[in-house]
Amino acid sequence: MESLHTLLDPRHPDVRIECSMARAEYALRAATMAQAEQLAAIHETLVEARAFPEIFVGPSAGSTQDAVAFAERAAVADLAVRLGLAEQTVRAQAEQARVLRLCAPRVWSAFRAGEVPAANARVVAELAATLPEAAWKPFEDAILEAAAVLATARFRARARSARERVQPQEAAALHRITAQERRVWVDHDIDGMSWLTAYLPSAVAQRATAHIDRSAASLLRAADETRTLAQLRADVAGDLLAGVLGSAAPHVGVSVGVLVPVLTLLGGDQPATLEGYGPIDAATAREMAGHAPSFFRILTDPISGTVLDVDRSTYRVPADLKRWLELRDQTCAFSGCGRRARDCDVDHTIDWAFGGTTSADNLAHLCRHHHRLKHHSRWTAEHGAGGMTWTSPTGAQARPDPPPPF
Ligand SMILES: [Zn+2]
Repeated sequence: MESLHTLLDPRHPDVRIECSMARAEYALRAATMAQAEQLAAIHETLVEARAFPEIFVGPSAGSTQDAVAFAERAAVADLAVRLGLAEQTVRAQAEQARVLRLCAPRVWSAFRAGEVPAANARVVAELAATLPEAAWKPFEDAILEAAAVLATARFRARARSARERVQPQEAAALHRITAQERRVWVDHDIDGMSWLTAYLPSAVAQRATAHIDRSAASLLRAADETRTLAQLRADVAGDLLAGVLGSAAPHVGVSVGVLVPVLTLLGGDQPATLEGYGPIDAATAREMAGHAPSFFRILTDPISGTVLDVDRSTYRVPADLKRWLELRDQTCAFSGCGRRARDCDVDHTIDWAFGGTTSADNLAHLCRHHHRLKHHSRWTAEHGAGGMTWTSPTGAQARPDPPPPF
């Protein structure tokens, strides 16, 4: 019989393999427990922020509903900066912890003990969140055992059918509710290509979405319109593709900005910048600058930024400066926010009323959410050479995102 010494001898490959497998198992369990701990801590931070809003919005704001909402937003942004996560991810993780605790407490405990994989816990939270209270326990009963043992793809299928069995609502009603989430989005790929769930040259995808945006925005202005902008964009895109919208479509001019270095236009190969996408190759840029009327082009001299130096005595941001800022910023100026500049407000970093000027170095695009956060919470922003530096109510600093490549 082999001695214990031989069984543990690392000179044997089977011993080494057994050890490394055990290490992997142990690490996975520790990572799962750590993931659950992160979710719990995020959730608890937001509960505290709602209970003590003054920490995030200052004592003068009181505990009104608005103060509580802004305190929560400020705390979400604070966590996002500290953890290097998107705000949406922070919110989603807090929500996941809240739902699991409330709707599937046994799955939550098993997840915290490292016994239910993080991906399966996420599936449980997503599905449980769509169920009414009466269905929570039957749903958890049906999936508890499978959550610990099935791989995520199989577990998802199992959990979906469990949800359908315990779901008291009609499929048609569910479709109506889910259809409210319809929307259009673009994912950018490499080499000047993008997905509008058609794989297209980015210039085409940007023009298409600009057209959809303008049409949706013009429909939104109708007095009796009840759909949201996101819903309208989805409806316009669907109608255009289905051929429903033809000549009846609202006729709107679209223009997409493209920033072309002068030397590129003369045959050089410095890349240009397509609004909402980033660098594109010189040949495509020359073609767009030469022939396509729907591209708004700005020729840049790399040295003279003087096009920015416009009338500083007015509060209103002149159209050409606004257009230039859209190209400069590309997105909301809050660290990590990806909202496109053209969907953002132009904010005076130092308030006009406090001596801030209407100039490029005091203006930045902020999405509605971050704009309001800046004005209604203790988040502060400062313009610097490399971009905006943000400081959270609890003192965390978000360094500026690197400037766009021009
Ligand atoms: Zn933003």
